[in-house]
Amino acid sequence: MEFKEFNLHPVIAASITEAGYVTPTPIQQQAIPTVMQGRDVMGLAQTGTGKTAAFALPVLHRLMDGPRRTVRALVVAPTRELAEQIHESFVTLGRKTQLKSVTVYGGVNVNPQIQALKNGVEIVVACPGRLLDHISQGTIDLSHLEVLILDEADQMFDMGFLPDIRRILKQIPAKRQTLLFSATMPPDINKLAQDILTDPVTVKVGNTAPPVTVSHALYPVEQHLKTALLMELLKHTDTESVLIFTRTKHRAKRLGEQLEKAGYKSASLQGNLSQNRRQEALNGFRDGTYQILVATDIAARGIDVSQISHVINYDIPDTPEAYVHRIGRTGRAAKSGDAFTMVCSEDTVMVRTIEKKLGTALERRTITDFDYSVPAPKKDAEFARPPREPRPARKPVDAKKSSGGSINPFKSDHPGSKPSGRPQQGRPGVTGATPKPVFNSSRRGK
Ligand code: AMP
Repeated sequence: MEFKEFNLHPVIAASITEAGYVTPTPIQQQAIPTVMQGRDVMGLAQTGTGKTAAFALPVLHRLMDGPRRTVRALVVAPTRELAEQIHESFVTLGRKTQLKSVTVYGGVNVNPQIQALKNGVEIVVACPGRLLDHISQGTIDLSHLEVLILDEADQMFDMGFLPDIRRILKQIPAKRQTLLFSATMPPDINKLAQDILTDPVTVKVGNTAPPVTVSHALYPVEQHLKTALLMELLKHTDTESVLIFTRTKHRAKRLGEQLEKAGYKSASLQGNLSQNRRQEALNGFRDGTYQILVATDIAARGIDVSQISHVINYDIPDTPEAYVHRIGRTGRAAKSGDAFTMVCSEDTVMVRTIEKKLGTALERRTITDFDYSVPAPKKDAEFARPPREPRPARKPVDAKKSSGGSINPFKSDHPGSKPSGRPQQGRPGVTGATPKPVFNSSRRGK
């Protein structure tokens, strides 16, 4: 199948070619014609499948006809980073259309958003909190909205945004096209879908299976040797960009600093950073200033860095879904990638659950020259696993609603995040180390 079969507007078709897309991905093959017909869509797809273009292309096509400089399409996304990425996709794919897109999220100055909305835009990509602020302040007019897209709905649910979503739904025209994308289908999202979609077409790719281009491996190791093993892995692996996941913000920050000390160009991305610092870390990772980014699940949600060669789980995730999400960051759109997971004895149950979900046993690897027998230091302050951070509340404290609704330019759209944190400098470091065959691979059954 080729893009031209969709009969998209010629200026959009030209941007697709310029973006270097040759063949539509499976989700695009299913979703684009359906959305072009004006149908509601329930899209079951994880990030990395090309789902953004699956909705951005037909929405741009629709907006080519009709009024300009009035908000006609609204995308709601859980995180600022994802909102930026979606916005960038609209800009890239719509660069010849004269259509305008703006992002709306907390943690940044509200005035440029107000000005952009005043000047007139057709597409708004928003996080729920700041969008509600604009609605209550009357700085956004959604009365002409034609298409609503809820992206990563399951993540919005996890982050406690569902009440906000329902509030937003009350403020937009009932007669509209609605597209809902989610990687998983927990009961609350199913209920939301039933409430807001009219006679939807379900498009589904890959279920929750990770991209086939990723090769997975487990590295059994004791907790106190994780950092040392990570350093060995990095030294002996030919990596481009590496995304490392930790369980907590504290561990992300600390590991980022340790990697920097060891000479790696690295940064950490976690909820305690100011928006400027987050963006700087993300941009630096994207443009190669940082080779390594250490992040928590929430901070890294939806990150699209096409050249990620390795995802390393310094800490195993809490759920098999989170595992699939994490490793979805590598092996994106037909690139191959590796996913390494460090596992301790206490992770046995989760490993089994993940293998069950994937339907296959994962390879266990050891590094030949690594000394696994080093005992844990007596006072294990450096490496001990800190208590788990509480998961974000399902029901957010609804401060903005009770506060009279004034727009706070410093408010974040991440529940629980505060603007703080100190900039970290990238340093020239050890990159492009020659790969050495140091791994002993052994396959074990389940
Ligand atoms: P997404 O799942 O929307 O985050 O997209 C994942 C990555 O795939 C992004 O870097 C897109 O630019 C890229 N992509 C989307 N559609 C295609 C396509 N048809 N061919 C090649 N790359 C694509």
